[in-house]
Amino acid sequence: MSELGAHIKAIIAEEGPITVERYMELALTHPEFGYYMNRDPFGAAGDFTTAPEISQMFGELIGLWAAEVWSMMGRPDPLRFVELGPGRGTLMSDALRAARIVPEFRAALDVTLIEASATLAEIQHDTLLTAGAPVAWGASADEAPEGPAIFLANEFLDALPVRQYVRSNNRWRERHVALDKSGGLMFAPGRQPEPFIPAAGEEGDIIETCPTGHRLVYELAGRLVRQGGVALFIDYGHNVTAIGETLQAVRGHRMVDPLIEPGECDLTAHVDFAAMARSARAAGAAVYGPVDQGDFLREIGIDARTQALCARSPERTEEFEQARRRLVGKETGEMGGLFKAMVIASRSLPAPPGFEGPR
Ligand code: SAH
Repeated sequence: MSELGAHIKAIIAEEGPITVERYMELALTHPEFGYYMNRDPFGAAGDFTTAPEISQMFGELIGLWAAEVWSMMGRPDPLRFVELGPGRGTLMSDALRAARIVPEFRAALDVTLIEASATLAEIQHDTLLTAGAPVAWGASADEAPEGPAIFLANEFLDALPVRQYVRSNNRWRERHVALDKSGGLMFAPGRQPEPFIPAAGEEGDIIETCPTGHRLVYELAGRLVRQGGVALFIDYGHNVTAIGETLQAVRGHRMVDPLIEPGECDLTAHVDFAAMARSARAAGAAVYGPVDQGDFLREIGIDARTQALCARSPERTEEFEQARRRLVGKETGEMGGLFKAMVIASRSLPAPPGFEGPR
């Protein structure tokens, strides 16, 4: 059992079962033993690979997308360019490099990275040493400086802790993590019912919500309404709110049991985009999408970008083509249909590139 596993067991032994939400939060961001706090989880040698780590094209296209959005915003200077959960800093680095072809945009950028992990912040610092733009760090989204802004968040919302409610004895009860008879971790329904939940359900059904994500989206949307700007969220998730659980653990590119070795594997939950959109609209913002990542990247020029890179480095044609397919393809193992892109924006702006119009 991991160090964090032993720590969590001690907490449960002393205080009783903890919520799934608290479990997930401890597993990912416990200051000492949390999964993100002391490792670089990305890439072939790590646990999972994200779109910016697959190809430079992802960040480059998003950088050029941001330059167009900045134009639509009336070219504010400074523009707060904020990334939530930047991982290795690869997306931001590729975006800033591509943005060089729009020098006024580049010159207006004031970059803030919102990162919970000191280890990853250090890696981001190294990645962006030569980026040629002022970069600051913060630990939560409300630390981003005021003013017109573009926020980016790739695979960030899926890392925020979810609450779960399980249908048990004809009642919804919050789902907890408890100790089983042999002292291992197990899921268990809380004793107290939660009669405020108005949904019907069958024994064993699970409802999942992400209060931390909703609060973040609501506050961010309010800020964009007041100060101008947009936020682009890309993640895997669903377009319709439904019953069911999506909590999953990944280690070494394989699915594992989420209760085994907390702190040693990545824990995520699918993003309920419909519910996030409701939070954004409740704060007065416009919502665009979600659209499939593959469609979004096509709309903003991934095919032309692939061709340009292949023309410049013909010996790498296979590599660029493969990356393009992985990012836009919708077959098993490809990201184009599984991942979705959604924008929340102040109502004064027209639809951003890649999105048809408000739903
Ligand atoms: N966007 C990157 C990394 C995705 S992994 C990429 O696409 O490669 C999730 C990132 O969010 C990591 O950098 C992790 O440390 C960070 N993170 C997770 N929970 C966070 C929180 N509550 N606040 C700030 N950052 C968080």
